[in-house]
Amino acid sequence: MELDSLYQEVILDAYRNPKNRGRIENAQMQVHHNNPSCGDEITLTLNLKEDQISEIKWDGVGCSISIASASMMSELVVGKSASVALDLLDKFSELMQSKGRAEGDESLQDALAFAGVSKFPARIKCALLGWMAFKDALLRIKSKN
Ligand code: ZN
Repeated sequence: MELDSLYQEVILDAYRNPKNRGRIENAQMQVHHNNPSCGDEITLTLNLKEDQISEIKWDGVGCSISIASASMMSELVVGKSASVALDLLDKFSELMQSKGRAEGDESLQDALAFAGVSKFPARIKCALLGWMAFKDALLRIKSKN
């Protein structure tokens, strides 16, 4: 896999220093997702307060792309309203489906580093794993309320 070296550095840095890693005690929701094609696994815990992502933590094992993406996702969505967070998720999904043709929306910040990953179909699920776990947890909380 060849990615732009700057982007590769951003991804490796997030992989080496992942943010919001861990588990929230007594979280409103806990989900576990995996990506069998690569062996990535993630457990994500989430708290929502007045429709805002008040706390998010995740833990997992997997490749650098899955770990780095989960870390950046958690940084992007924490403190955001549910609708803004879901909008970011849509933008990231679109970017991952762009086959390397899109640059992505600026609101994705460091997660734009994954634009190049969209050229590698086998790795797209790695990049989306954390985001899909987040979406699942968020929608489950919302459907309970
Ligand atoms: Zn992976």
